[in-house]
Amino acid sequence: MLISDLRQRLRALGANPAHESRVLRHWVQCLPLDAGKQPLHGWLPKAVMEALPGLMAELQGLVALRSEHAGSDGESARLLLGLNDGQTVETVLLPREGVCVSSQVGCAVGCRFCMTGVDGLIRQVGSAEIVAQVVLARRKQPKLRKVVFMGMGEPSHNLASVLDAITLLGREGGFAHKQLVFSTVGDERAFAALNEAEVKPALALSLHTTDAAKRADLLPRAPRLSPEALVEAADAYARASGYPIQYQWTLLDGVNDGPEELDGIVRLLKGRYGLLNMIPFNSAEGLPFQRPSWERARAIAAELSSRGVLTKLRDSAGQDVEGGCGQLRAREAVGRP
Ligand code: SF4
Repeated sequence: MLISDLRQRLRALGANPAHESRVLRHWVQCLPLDAGKQPLHGWLPKAVMEALPGLMAELQGLVALRSEHAGSDGESARLLLGLNDGQTVETVLLPREGVCVSSQVGCAVGCRFCMTGVDGLIRQVGSAEIVAQVVLARRKQPKLRKVVFMGMGEPSHNLASVLDAITLLGREGGFAHKQLVFSTVGDERAFAALNEAEVKPALALSLHTTDAAKRADLLPRAPRLSPEALVEAADAYARASGYPIQYQWTLLDGVNDGPEELDGIVRLLKGRYGLLNMIPFNSAEGLPFQRPSWERARAIAAELSSRGVLTKLRDSAGQDVEGGCGQLRAREAVGRP
């Protein structure tokens, strides 16, 4: 279901835009529904009131918890959610009241270090299904204060639905713009749309290497924009939106952790409005990469910081659930716990 379908159904019941906002706020903020009583935050037409319990149940049923895997840090958890057509997506509850949502079932980019990309794109996740992941997370974590679009899928390949979800979360969901993070491998249409967006999220750019040929090999179906062009576009957005860019770097042992890459990072990112998030690869069966040692990763992060690139090494807390997008779904597909 799309948010636009939902709005149309409400309009057919006599709702005006203000009524629609109230109903959507009700859903996204998990406000209590007192049977037969008008919601506290404003009047609704009778037909809308009568339809509300059924509609809320339908929206709640857009995603169903299939399994939950707690992280060793005690704060994070990876959830496998079933969609109405039997497909599944992963949603991750993050430490510090965040949630990571999926925007596609599968992914067409095919990054060689990611299980989600193995089977290609299976289908888009509708805008209402994206928001439903946030609502489910909010039921588990009522203080939810950050939504990152960094789960399964490439958000710029489902741009209209992701931007609709971001607009709703920013307008009715109680999230500030900078609490919403659009994560992308980089796409000209996405940069253009974000610059025009009513709710401008913070941006995470998956860089992974500063070498264009290596990037084409690691991210085979990402748009062919050079690392330099990507950083220029991201930096311009950071300055326009006022939020620093999070440059993402999955650290692969012997692949993108050498001195030439560190020199490239300094050349590209020093002086930019952003920070580098380094995430040591989470080893997965069937993927041809290794995780570097934590000591090596820490030394790399320290060197980059000393050379003027603010670098954050994601600590191991929650890494067992954060680091391996697509692994739960893949395990379920072959019938393993
Ligand atoms: Fe797609 Fe992201 Fe996986 Fe790459 S890392 S295949 S963009 S989900």
